[in-house]
Amino acid sequence: VAGSARTTFHRKKERGTHDRRTIDAILDEGLVCHVGFPEDGSTVVLPTAYARSDDVVYLHGAAANAMLKTVASGAPICVTVTLLDGIVLARSAFHHSMNYRSVVLFGVGSAVDDPDEKLRALLAIVDHMAPGRSEDARPPTESELQATAVVRLPIDEASAKVRSGGPLDDDEDMGLPIWAGVIPCGLVSGPAVVNGVLPASVRTPEYVVDPTPAATLPDLG
Ligand SMILES: Cc1cc2nc3c(=O)[nH]c(=O)nc-3n(C[C@H](O)[C@H](O)[C@H](O)COP(=O)(O)OP(=O)(O)OC[C@H]3O[C@@H](n4cnc5c(N)ncnc54)[C@H](O)[C@@H]3O)c2cc1C
Repeated sequence: VAGSARTTFHRKKERGTHDRRTIDAILDEGLVCHVGFPEDGSTVVLPTAYARSDDVVYLHGAAANAMLKTVASGAPICVTVTLLDGIVLARSAFHHSMNYRSVVLFGVGSAVDDPDEKLRALLAIVDHMAPGRSEDARPPTESELQATAVVRLPIDEASAKVRSGGPLDDDEDMGLPIWAGVIPCGLVSGPAVVNGVLPASVRTPEYVVDPTPAATLPDLG
């Protein structure tokens, strides 16, 4: 994406990029975004599910959802996605850090009213949680669609930032008798817990046996 005044990096510029492939990869791997929006003269940030589809990020929720109403009204919003890759323990307290990949996305959203786009967006959000799930789940009914609001935010003013590697201690601290290094972190899913008694014909889908978003810890560099 083209840089803008708001997405110009000031600190640690070497960690920042406007490369769309990097931005998309982070958006696609993340499962939770945080949406910052104005509300009654203050700023609110709420976590929520999302999905990227081509050049758009979709959010959804109850038709009465205040955040979605604000986004649909065209208020300026900011959406972030953060992947925590590691806790960086330096010899000095000062140089402790985190390894991460993150995206900041600015823009103005709008309501998705077109029925086809709305359905595609909702299925994209389901597939973002478990790839292929939308083909297995019962599709939404008309009343479920009515009860659900969907908004879109174009990906045209965005930035990504990536930190990797070990601690950056000062030279004079390198000989200190203090453990230093990285504790790798990642989102890890546990064994699936089946709900109720399923018909005998139901096989456990591959996306349950091997959920992809949480499958791999990142390269630690
Ligand atoms: C898990 C995690 C932990 C962090 N911990 C700290 C911390 O403790 N202290 C600290 O100072 N910083 C931390 N950061 C980095 C922080 O997000 C900012 O990049 C940094 O604080 C610089 O802030 P600034 O206001 O000077 O940014 P600026 O460089 O002025 O930001 C300008 C623009 O750069 C882009 N940008 C800035 N940061 C990011 C980002 N993280 N991802 C994508 N785009 C970005 C945005 O478009 C932003 O509007 C952390 C980041 C992550 C993901």
